[in-house]
Amino acid sequence: MSSQRPRVLIIGGGFGGLFCARRLAKADVDITLLDRSADHLFQPLLYQCATGKLSIGHISRPLREEFARYDNIKPLLGEAITLDPSARTVTALRPDETTFVVEYDVLILAAGMRQSYLGNEEFAHWAPGMKTLDDALEIRQRILTAFEIAETLPPGPERTDWLTFAVAGGGPTGVELAGQIREMATRTLTNEFHSIQPQEARVLLFDGGQRVLKKFAPDLSAKATETLAELGVEMHFGVHVTDVRRDGVTVTPKNGAPDRQFSTRTVLWTAGVEAVPFARHVAETLGAPTDRAGRIQVEPDLSVAGHPEIFVVGDLAGRDKLPGVAENAMQGGLHAAACIRRDLAGRPRRPYRYRDLGSAAYISHGNALLQVGRIRVSGYLGWVAWGLIHIAFLTGVRNRISTVATWLASIARAGRYHRAFMLGAADRPEQRYTYSTWDLPEPAPPHYRAYRS
Ligand SMILES: Cc1cc2nc3c(=O)[nH]c(=O)nc-3n(C[C@H](O)[C@H](O)[C@H](O)COP(=O)(O)OP(=O)(O)OC[C@H]3O[C@@H](n4cnc5c(N)ncnc54)[C@H](O)[C@@H]3O)c2cc1C
Repeated sequence: MSSQRPRVLIIGGGFGGLFCARRLAKADVDITLLDRSADHLFQPLLYQCATGKLSIGHISRPLREEFARYDNIKPLLGEAITLDPSARTVTALRPDETTFVVEYDVLILAAGMRQSYLGNEEFAHWAPGMKTLDDALEIRQRILTAFEIAETLPPGPERTDWLTFAVAGGGPTGVELAGQIREMATRTLTNEFHSIQPQEARVLLFDGGQRVLKKFAPDLSAKATETLAELGVEMHFGVHVTDVRRDGVTVTPKNGAPDRQFSTRTVLWTAGVEAVPFARHVAETLGAPTDRAGRIQVEPDLSVAGHPEIFVVGDLAGRDKLPGVAENAMQGGLHAAACIRRDLAGRPRRPYRYRDLGSAAYISHGNALLQVGRIRVSGYLGWVAWGLIHIAFLTGVRNRISTVATWLASIARAGRYHRAFMLGAADRPEQRYTYSTWDLPEPAPPHYRAYRS
């Protein structure tokens, strides 16, 4: 380490990066927290933002505000693009696409995963994923625009297509989205339209397995299926979505039966994740093995083999089948911070031990699942527990209070008070008025294109 205070560079202000920085706040180190977004995002409630229940302000907190009272933590907005492990520097891209360099003595990689289209990147054009605030706002725009367009069409197949929503992936995010669209259609929008009946909206949920929420016990998963069916979600199991177009999807059964076509103008993708591009670059640069999704293999202390100064935490850490959940990211961030503190004190590092504190999933109003060891709760009790857990982990007291107030208001009146969506852009007033008029995405600047490819 250099003669000044050790410089810790944390890449990613998600759960892993946030908890690592918090734990180091009073340590004798200088921390730079680099993120491509200016805010910490509470991903578990993204679907509520996408479906108008919560605003982007409820589920995010500026990193500058979060760390304003700590002199040794400097948040920086920039996307890490290259690592030089010999010089111990990371080059980052500013939003204007110029670059800057950050030096480090210790590097914490907490950059998370992004949506994967399983080799079909072209699907992203028609089927947004669900990982960022941009995704949530885009999904909100697509869902609400679909109802608006349907309202202006005469009864017939075109209108039906706009009132059909397809969700790929029956994990927690797919289940939450599918349930929320039906709830929005049957509870919130019912009396607001004059021509269409929003409650007639069809929501199709596709999954390659034989049940939703495979990580939950079969009885809880069966309860979720029952609730979704009551809500009116049409579930199709044992199938893969093999094509996504402007006006529909192709679904291929795994048992060899013929493909099926479904007409729809709104497709949402939640079917897989992969490491963000910078993580792939780090693995290649360090010669570190990865799994198929790009998680980087780490040592028992979460450092990369041969690089005790580089830790990988959260979703990106590939070891012992660590789960891609917030709790693992938080514990991993705290663990890396503890290793740094031990290094400073000249004490040996300890191996990382993940403690599974359970899982929860929202199904519908008054209905959620909770699984903690052998304890399994569903229905109303599960819903209350789910709410308490999410409020406890939401970042920032202001966000907690305003989220509870908003939830109470929407419970009382079935309302969704954050349905505003954007149709234009500052430079072109009617840019991409609806996605059905999209041309192919504009080419990115050359150096950015090279990095992305
Ligand atoms: C829709 C959804 C719902 C979920 N629901 C639950 C749930 O109910 N319970 C649960 O436990 N878990 C849930 N998860 C999973 C949980 O959110 C993740 O496991 C957790 O966020 C992982 O934390 P992380 O710190 O590894 O990464 P993230 O929280 O993803 O943070 C990564 C950060 O790195 C930044 N970043 C990425 N690339 C770069 C770069 N090149 N340069 C700079 N910054 C970069 C990103 O902007 C981001 O801020 C959900 C996830 C999603 C997407």
